Amino acid sequence: MPAKLASFFLKPGKEQSLKRFHPWVFSGAIAKAEGKPQEGDLVNVFASNGEFLALGHCQVGSIAVRILSFEPAEVNYDFWKLKIEKAWNVRKSLGLTDNSETNVFRLVHAEGDGMPGLVIDFYNGTAVIQTHTVGMFLVREMLVEALKEVLGNKLKAVYDKSGKSLPYKAEISAEDGYLFGDDSEKEVSEYGLRFKVDWVEGQKTGFFIDQRENRFLVQQFAKNRDVLNMFCYTGGFSFYAMKGGARLVHSVDSSAKAIELTKQNVELNFEGDTRHEAFAADGFEFMRDIKDKYDLIILDPPAFAKHRDAVQQALQAYKRINTRAFEQIRSGGIVFTFSCSQVVSKEKFREAVFSAAAISGRSIRILHQLTQPADHPVSIYHLEGEYLKGLVLYVE
Ligand code: SAH
Repeated sequence: MPAKLASFFLKPGKEQSLKRFHPWVFSGAIAKAEGKPQEGDLVNVFASNGEFLALGHCQVGSIAVRILSFEPAEVNYDFWKLKIEKAWNVRKSLGLTDNSETNVFRLVHAEGDGMPGLVIDFYNGTAVIQTHTVGMFLVREMLVEALKEVLGNKLKAVYDKSGKSLPYKAEISAEDGYLFGDDSEKEVSEYGLRFKVDWVEGQKTGFFIDQRENRFLVQQFAKNRDVLNMFCYTGGFSFYAMKGGARLVHSVDSSAKAIELTKQNVELNFEGDTRHEAFAADGFEFMRDIKDKYDLIILDPPAFAKHRDAVQQALQAYKRINTRAFEQIRSGGIVFTFSCSQVVSKEKFREAVFSAAAISGRSIRILHQLTQPADHPVSIYHLEGEYLKGLVLYVE
């Protein structure tokens, strides 16, 4: 065990969750610190009896340590390389690393890949890194080297997008930019559909990769339907609906930039196709009066709640948009409804959707229960990692 690391000793009884491989230590569980650990430092965590439990990155806040290893380890280049290699092998086993139809996937999904605080998305040769902890931010150069070694010639560039993702209080002025290579290919393919991705200006790392399988499912439902894709961002769901034979597709987003990208992507895939129209508008306003224009509605709003104290408000917002969809959709219509807020549990989201159904008074069946795809894995010891929840509903 590296001797020089700072240490935290937990209060008696607080070692249980680490013994069950839960990857967070809450500040309230710590009895004392040795060696003045600072934000981003590696720390060893011990039980009150001095037994080694885990080591991880120290953070100021209610989560005080994010665990990297439950065994003593040297956290050096080989440590990171092995982690990246394991993550790559999972995607390889999913058939994503050598796939002519789909060349965009999540390569590292934080706790789900044993790397809390780190997300890496792979866009047709460019890895976009987003660090959410100072600890991960400080090792990004090593991560780049590890990516180069593990991915070999599949890797053309690495872009760091940590400028806005680090904790505000950390007072690190991170700037976005290339850590390797430069602006190269910005077009990706997902199930054979083409998308322009803008990781420099776009939201998150540039694309909502987590909806891939759910978008694909929309394609199966779209034939001869009139589709509303609400909160469309770059239009993902819309193109699958078009591919599936929709009669018309309306894409709505409040961001004019997103609507611009959506229009570009339509031209890329369905040049001159008049079935599609895009609107820059507020979703809640737009849905006030859609009458019975649609028989397939997709509701994929942003994370209404980013913090626990906003959960109640978020649930009201889910209830409101779902009620509007249920009240107005045509008979025999299909609703795809989602929540990507980690702090809103699956049960709470369902309750909100169920109360919306009850308000509408319509007869509604659940056809599918959806979640995030396999390249966004969840550690079985950390179910908080299951953040995307969705339902496919049949409205009689
Ligand atoms: N469905 C998309 C991802 C949606 S992300 C996909 O598959 O890629 C959520 C989107 O909601 C963002 O693009 C954001 O610009 C948009 N948004 C946020 N608030 C909104 C509002 N009030 N009305 C309409 N769109 C909104």
